[in-house]
Amino acid sequence: MPDKTQSPMILILGGTADAMRIAAKVFARYGQSHTVMTSLAGRVKTPQNPIGEVRIGGFGGIDGLKAYLRTHNVVAVIDATHPFAAQMSRHASLACDAIGVKRVQVRRPEWPKVAGDNWIEVDTVPEAAALLPSLGKRAFLTVGLGELAPFRDMHEIWNLVRVVDEPAEPLLNGPHLTIAARGPFHEADERALMAEHEIDVVVTKHAGGDATYGKLAVARERNIPVVMVRRPPAEAGDTCAPDGVLNWLEHTLPHEVTP
Ligand code: NAP
Repeated sequence: MPDKTQSPMILILGGTADAMRIAAKVFARYGQSHTVMTSLAGRVKTPQNPIGEVRIGGFGGIDGLKAYLRTHNVVAVIDATHPFAAQMSRHASLACDAIGVKRVQVRRPEWPKVAGDNWIEVDTVPEAAALLPSLGKRAFLTVGLGELAPFRDMHEIWNLVRVVDEPAEPLLNGPHLTIAARGPFHEADERALMAEHEIDVVVTKHAGGDATYGKLAVARERNIPVVMVRRPPAEAGDTCAPDGVLNWLEHTLPHEVTP
């Protein structure tokens, strides 16, 4: 049973820079009247600390999330996970619908495709990996640690792999170099990195947002292809841009608890 004496909670599903900015804004507006909690999956070794409270680790599937929402008196869920964290978004949608908690999915604008871009769009990372040897010899892989399996036994090309944390073991069996770095990545640095390693093809997921756009501008400049993995669709229900969350909360939370 929920403890009705505890303050109502606004739960932010995080793991992104957008979620960090959203937590700061929501805390500034609702921190006196609500618990503002950011939830992180616990994938990176040293997560950045959002303003407000933080919990780390999975909820234990849809039922676990339903139990969390009930016992913590959650009144609104802001799904600010990465556009490719589709399972978490699905679970949030199903759990909130099942018990009547309001939820919004934050959608960053997609990157615009402009003249000079040579994007080869695919639906999955394995499709991207299958195409790669036909497109170049020196690839820049920015798909995330959890998506590297299809590249693991690739021997015909050299890969530059960028991940957040320094890995304990080699990530690929074929020729490669791993660099550990956390965005935002500035265009000038991407230009220097891609020139240094003579990159002739880029593989990325269509995340959107400014923080990782630089490599796409540089790919255009270098006139090289980008294998672009399309985004999964949004969940049904409310969506908003990252700067639309406060507006959504204002219209969603009951007026008597809105400061
Ligand atoms: P996912 O496949 O959608 O989720 C897998 C499981 O991880 C979920 O079922 C849930 O476990 C747990 N989980 C995911 N996000 C969580 C959160 N914010 N709080 C608590 N538990 C969470 O997720 P993913 O693609 O592995 O991404 C994991 C996290 O990294 C996300 O929070 C996402 O925002 C961030 N991230 C992902 C990417 C990407 O490319 N996928 C890129 C940058 C950042 P339970 O079922 O046990 O609840």
